[in-house]
Amino acid sequence: MVPEVAGSDPVDRPIFQPFLLYLEALWGICMAAFWTEADFDDHELVHFVHEPEAGLTAIIALHSTHLGPGGGGTRFWHYAQPEAAMRDALRLSRGMSYKNAMAGLPMGGGKAVILADPQRRKTPELLAAFAKAIDGLDGRYVTAQDVGMSEADIVSISRNTQHVAGLPAAEGLAGGDPGPYTAYGVYLGIKAAVQQGLGKESLSGVHVAVQGTGSVGGGAARLLARDGAKLTIADIDAAKAEALANKLSASTVPADAILATPCDVFSPNALGAILHPESIAALDCAIVAGGANNQLARSEHGVMLADRGILYAPDYVINAGGIIGVALEYLGRRGGTPYTKEEANGRIEQIPGRLAAIWEESAASGLPADVVADRMAQKLIGRG
Ligand code: NAD
Repeated sequence: MVPEVAGSDPVDRPIFQPFLLYLEALWGICMAAFWTEADFDDHELVHFVHEPEAGLTAIIALHSTHLGPGGGGTRFWHYAQPEAAMRDALRLSRGMSYKNAMAGLPMGGGKAVILADPQRRKTPELLAAFAKAIDGLDGRYVTAQDVGMSEADIVSISRNTQHVAGLPAAEGLAGGDPGPYTAYGVYLGIKAAVQQGLGKESLSGVHVAVQGTGSVGGGAARLLARDGAKLTIADIDAAKAEALANKLSASTVPADAILATPCDVFSPNALGAILHPESIAALDCAIVAGGANNQLARSEHGVMLADRGILYAPDYVINAGGIIGVALEYLGRRGGTPYTKEEANGRIEQIPGRLAAIWEESAASGLPADVVADRMAQKLIGRG
C-alpha cells in the first residue's frame, strides 16, 4: 500500500524562498526513495512537518493503527543525512507496533523524529509547532519521551495537544519517567531467562554483565543486586559505573570489555545495533537479555545467537515496561479513570509469560526467538 504522505499546511509558507523549494525537493526525493526502501513496511502514514519560522523539521511515521492510536516517542536528534532520519522514523514506528502489540496495549505503532540543527537548539516555539502538528493528526499519533526529549519537553508539548503519553503523575498513579518501569520489566525478563536457560529459580549467584548504567541499566542492576546476582557493570562514563558498583558491591570493567565478559547473562542497556557477527562471536554468556532498543544490527543476526545456543530475549518484548507505564497514563487520562502504578506493574509482570511463550514456540519450531516474536506481533496487528 502506498502511504498517505502529508505535509504541513502550505498556506502560511513563504513558498518563493529558494531554500524551502530545495528542501521540498529533497523531501520528495527521500519519499520516493523510501517507498522502495527496505525499511518501508506498508506504513499507514508518513507525515512531513516543516515550519521554518519555528525552526521545526520533523517526520511523524505511523506504522499501524490496527490496535489503536499509534503510540511511540519523539526522537530529537541531529541527523547528518535526512535519509537517516527517515530510516529511524520508519524502523522505530514499526518497532512500536510490535512492542505495543506484544505488551497487550490497545495501541498501534508510531514514532516521530525532529531533525535538530547541529547545536540541537530546542525552543518553546519549535515544541509548540511540533505539538500542533501532532494535534492535527486528531489522535492517530500519541507521542512520548525518547532520545533527546525530556519530561519537561513532553509537558511543554501537552500545552498544545492532549495526545502525549507519560505526563508526570500524582503519587501512586501510572505515568512520569518510563525508565523505572522499563528497568522493572528487564529485571523480570532476566529472571525468566535464567529460569528458562539455566533452570534456576533464583538469581542468587547468577553472573550478569550490565552494559550501560543509565535509567534502565542502573535500575535493573539495583533490582538484580537485591536478589543476590553477581554483577559486572560498565559504562562509557566510567565514574558513573564505579559509583554504582560501589553501592551494589559490583565489579566494573572498561566499556569496551563488557560484551566479552564471561558471565551467565549479558544485559545490553546502552546502544542499539550491538549484536552483529563479530560481537556475537565474542559473547561469553548463555543469555542475552537487556533493555536497549534494536539490539540486533540486522534481523538475520538473531539466527547467529540461536546457532551459538544463546537464549535471546527479544528487545521490544523485554523492554516494554516503559511504554506500558506511559501508555496507561494516557489511556487513563483519556478514559477519565487513571491507572495506578500497581496496575502498570501488574501488566509489566506479564512480560515473563510472553517471553516464555516465545521461547517455547522457538524451541518447537526451530526458529530464532526474534523471528518468533516478530511473527506473533505481526499476527496481532493483522499482518500475519
Ligand atoms: P540513559 O541515557 O539513561 O543511559 C544509557 C547509558 O548507557 C548512559 O549511562 C551511557 O553513558 C551509557 N552508554 C552509552 N554508550 C555506551 C557503551 N558503548 N558502553 C557502555 N555504556 C554506554 O538511557 P536509558 O533510558 O537507560 O536507555 C538505555 C537503552 O534502553 C536505550 O537503548 C534505550 O533506547 C532503551 N530503552 C529505554 C527505555 C526507557 O524507558 N528509558 C525504554 C525502552 C528502551
